[in-house]
Amino acid sequence: MFSVTELKTGEGTLQYRREWITGLSCRVSPERIKRGIDQSVPVAYSPNGCPFCPDQLPSATPVFPGGERIIVGESVTFPNLFPFAAWHTVTVISRDHTVGDFSREMLADAIRGSIRSLQDQKGYPSLNWNYLPSAGASLAHPHLQGLVDPRPSLLPERYHSGCEQYLRGWGSLYWDDLRSRERDGPRYLFGDEILWLAHAVPLGEREVRALLPLRTMGEMEPFLDTFVDGLRKVMGFYRSLGTAAFNLSLFFDRRGEDKGFRAFASIIARINPNPISLSDSSFMERLHLEPVILTAPEDVARMFRKKRQRSP
Ligand SMILES: [Zn+2]
Repeated sequence: MFSVTELKTGEGTLQYRREWITGLSCRVSPERIKRGIDQSVPVAYSPNGCPFCPDQLPSATPVFPGGERIIVGESVTFPNLFPFAAWHTVTVISRDHTVGDFSREMLADAIRGSIRSLQDQKGYPSLNWNYLPSAGASLAHPHLQGLVDPRPSLLPERYHSGCEQYLRGWGSLYWDDLRSRERDGPRYLFGDEILWLAHAVPLGEREVRALLPLRTMGEMEPFLDTFVDGLRKVMGFYRSLGTAAFNLSLFFDRRGEDKGFRAFASIIARINPNPISLSDSSFMERLHLEPVILTAPEDVARMFRKKRQRSP
């Protein structure tokens, strides 16, 4: 389902990887991790003037056309003031400006709120999270973003068209075949109904994918707690490796005909917030559209297993 071409370099080995279903590629260059650019630098984000803190939120954020915001547990959902999708909502996850440990309830409530804000829209929905400013969050206060568009964005679009062709050509679901190949393979992390694995051709550092046994957002509720438990496991794993910031996207199909797509989530670790604005994205990621990855997916899985064995 993907190809690996190796090239010996002065210091070690460079891999070119390519995923067949999407045609996307990346480079794996483990030597580059020795640069050690990702130092853990504690950066505190002041809650002063934060529009997502409870004292500001009612006056600083908009309401839906009916005059309401969606409240589920601690979470509050409202339209994005500066949308970049046909329908774009924001879900503030917590009352606290800084959250040490996201509880299962807190995350599940926030996802529920986000889903509720998207469920009546026609199109392709996704739930997204930039955690911390170094991962692209313009406000440090933890929040999800829900999008619905008449067309899927580039990555899910590649899977939609690839999986449709796959189904026509092979008569089977790409996702079923991927599951059976990855289960108990060198990139498998955990889970059964929802299968968590290190993605073979990563889009970013330590990319973890969750393959969900569902297609549309309306089918999510029975799997929500299991998904959140998995997400918290991955967040804990990232933290144990010294990275706090991450991006998350969870993609769904639109309602209607099943053409072979299944919902999946992608999570990538991002560089920690740092005082000199050192970035983990360069011309390769932004202009060549071919990320340079430091940790091979098989090593991500190996590290995950080692950490799990050590923890009680
Ligand atoms: Zn705040």
